[in-house]
Amino acid sequence: MKTIGVLTSGGDAPGMNAAVRAVVRTAIYNGLKVMGVKQGYNGLISGNIEEMNLSSVADIIHRGGTILRTARCEEFKTEEGRKKALTVLKVFGIEGLVVIGGDGSFQGAKKLSELGIPTIGIPGTIDNDLGYTDYTIGFDTAVNTVLDAISKIRDTSTSHGRAVIVEVMGRHCGDIALYSGLAGGAESVIVPEEGFNIDDVCKRLIQGRNRGKLHSIIILAEGVGKAYELGQEIQEKTGIETRVTVLGHIQRGGSPTAFDRILASKMGAKAVELLLEGKSARVIGVKGNELFDMDIDEALSLEKDFDKGMYNLTKILSI
Ligand code: ADP
Repeated sequence: MKTIGVLTSGGDAPGMNAAVRAVVRTAIYNGLKVMGVKQGYNGLISGNIEEMNLSSVADIIHRGGTILRTARCEEFKTEEGRKKALTVLKVFGIEGLVVIGGDGSFQGAKKLSELGIPTIGIPGTIDNDLGYTDYTIGFDTAVNTVLDAISKIRDTSTSHGRAVIVEVMGRHCGDIALYSGLAGGAESVIVPEEGFNIDDVCKRLIQGRNRGKLHSIIILAEGVGKAYELGQEIQEKTGIETRVTVLGHIQRGGSPTAFDRILASKMGAKAVELLLEGKSARVIGVKGNELFDMDIDEALSLEKDFDKGMYNLTKILSI
């Protein structure tokens, strides 16, 4: 193998740049040529591809977003689209591809590997919604962004004696809510995996107020929905003024944390090593502190395990 490509696809996540940097630098260290594919699978179909060198990835380890840009590409879901991509890969002499993205991007990588191009997937999504790995790149940064927001919201909620529902991202996965709820000392954490009982949420608010608490934070995962209706209902039931803050896309940006930079650097380097070993259709994950690789299909078939013990702990610690 002489030339490899790298792309970022699907929703962006802080740390994707650190992963791109690690792929490019590890490849060059091993004597490979590296091509950067722009805007996900779109760039693979249109030939929006440029050679990268050591300085193309200088000064990006600390930057959020992705210098390769990202996109969703419907055409790549068709056989015709993937055949175009295959032709482009041949024209640019790309013999292996590293795909940084979520489960959709991995499906695309798998299909490409079936056409004879070795592919390796790196999990990049703030949602932490992939069942095969403990952590995805960007999750830790998103949790820290939520924590920063909680601190600020706490200040103003205390002044006014309010309760605040903070809606966080995660699609159908409650991990951002769970981790930020535990770390932020939230009164209630509402996630799609567990559902919730409105009376229990209200009881916790009233108990808190009765022992002199001046503020209350409820973390709501977006997958549960209806933040404003919930706020209204809580206010009516408890008599506590309740506001709603939907954090939105700030959770997708910002400088990656040390954890995400390190994870991305290790995963980027491993992806290149796997291609050099002749592996294909593998994804990289982390269990405990150890990286591993796994067949893409097998990885995608694993259900996400919700950490019930941690969820119960949020309840115990917020009595
Ligand atoms: P994520 O990777 O963050 O889960 P998406 O689900 O939007 O994001 O997927 C990103 C891109 O991956 C899609 O726009 C498409 O180009 C490609 N993709 C997703 N699913 C498939 C599939 N089943 N076959 C081929 N390509 C796919």
